[in-house]
Amino acid sequence: QWIFLNDDFVKKEDAKISVYDHGFLYGDGVFEGIRVYSGNIFRMKEHMDRLYQSAKSIMLTIPYTQEELTELVVETVSKNGLSDAYIRLVVSRGTGDLGLDPYNCKRANTVIIVEPLSIFPKHLYETGIDIVTVATRRNRPDVLSPKVKSLNYLNNVLVKIEAHLANVSEALMLNDQGYVAEGSADNVFILKNGKLLTPPGYIGALEGITRNAIIDIANELGYEVREEPFTRHDVYTADEVFLTGTAAEVIAVVKVDGRTIGEGVPGEETKKLLKAFRKKVVEEGVKVENIPQGLHV
Ligand code: PLP
Repeated sequence: QWIFLNDDFVKKEDAKISVYDHGFLYGDGVFEGIRVYSGNIFRMKEHMDRLYQSAKSIMLTIPYTQEELTELVVETVSKNGLSDAYIRLVVSRGTGDLGLDPYNCKRANTVIIVEPLSIFPKHLYETGIDIVTVATRRNRPDVLSPKVKSLNYLNNVLVKIEAHLANVSEALMLNDQGYVAEGSADNVFILKNGKLLTPPGYIGALEGITRNAIIDIANELGYEVREEPFTRHDVYTADEVFLTGTAAEVIAVVKVDGRTIGEGVPGEETKKLLKAFRKKVVEEGVKVENIPQGLHV
């Protein structure tokens, strides 16, 4: 496995970063998770745009132009020969000293990892998952914009811990006003009376690229889609609930805080959207040369 680390491709065991890296010391940096489907990198431009916008927002200079870094991501995928994989692209503030001051970091550290991934066991896509809502709140958008995909993931880690304590695989966090925001690393959709709703970004949700792909698909299929705040009550009484994310893709939710959603099995519309999503990911994307195409099932 080849890992891109600051201008070089190195073997996994040699991919090491200083303990003075400010990503490590302070969670100071940005990242992206991107998927390769059948040799195509899905919505690559959207991911790269989000990375560069996140970096701009926190005044982090990425030491490559967006075109250069895009090319490096393609090269890392190609070098690893994987046609279905997950790409983790991390840019930290760089190596500095123990002080917080980011201006002591001379150059950002850039890492690209490509490896196979399955986030939930396959059978859960057939059965759907149970989730809970948790005490951890999404940070306020005026404090740190939820649009910034930063290395500060403590809220999300705490959500995962609360999910484990409740014996479920995922959980939803609310914002400080009690509106439903998102999962630990995925967006949430509810379907009620034929309308598909997802929280708007300002509620405290990352504007997920899978979320936006689902909005596109739902519009194409003629659903009424709205970005609208909703509460736990709306989730409990929804006809269907599902989560979306680069790692999770589209996964049905069949129980929330002990309330069964619909018939307690993945809903028909969720299945339709998942099917359309799976079709879209193999048709769209930036083609990577020199790796087998068309293997995705
Ligand atoms: N919300 C959070 C907090 C995330 O980390 C992610 C994962 O990237 C998502 C939502 C889903 O976004 P995307 O579909 O772009 O992966």
